[in-house]
Amino acid sequence: MHPFIQQLIELYDAEGHHTYGEGITQIEHAVQCAELALREGESAQMVTAALLHDVGHLMATTDIAFGNYKHDSIGADYLTPHFPPAVTEPIRLHAQAKRYLCAVEQDYLAGLSDASLDSLQHQGGLMDPVEQEAFLQEPFADAALRLRRWDDEGKVDELSNKQIADYLESMTAALSSVTH
Ligand code: FE
Ligand code: FE
Repeated sequence: MHPFIQQLIELYDAEGHHTYGEGITQIEHAVQCAELALREGESAQMVTAALLHDVGHLMATTDIAFGNYKHDSIGADYLTPHFPPAVTEPIRLHAQAKRYLCAVEQDYLAGLSDASLDSLQHQGGLMDPVEQEAFLQEPFADAALRLRRWDDEGKVDELSNKQIADYLESMTAALSSVTH
């Protein structure tokens, strides 16, 4: 096993049992999002992005320092030495994708969970038109929007009983070629 994937699995073993909120743990949320990506026939990189999108929440010191609200960039930066932009950039943009969707889709905003609505304020609230334009210019904006939909759906117990290690194959396939 690649040493960084080993490290990731150990991180989830150690910290992934903490609550995500909304009645599920971080691991449950992660594997549910990955499962939704798999069902859509997404690439190993997108499945990995879905699986690891909240890894920043597991890094306790950063959570305390930033009050959780920078978990997108913290997670993306942590993964960047080992995974390509197709994995890290949708993760970096997933909170921005929420701000975008809330601004452009009334139904999306209305359907947001309480916890997600609460964190929206700390993430900057609704995107204004200038921010929306800039967001759409991001090379991985579409991927981030897809990830965001799984993020919202991946909060129901029954969806998946898998573990992080069950996605070893996807994670390995998604690694940057230089680190293989
Ligand atoms: Fe998140
Ligand atoms: Fe999430």
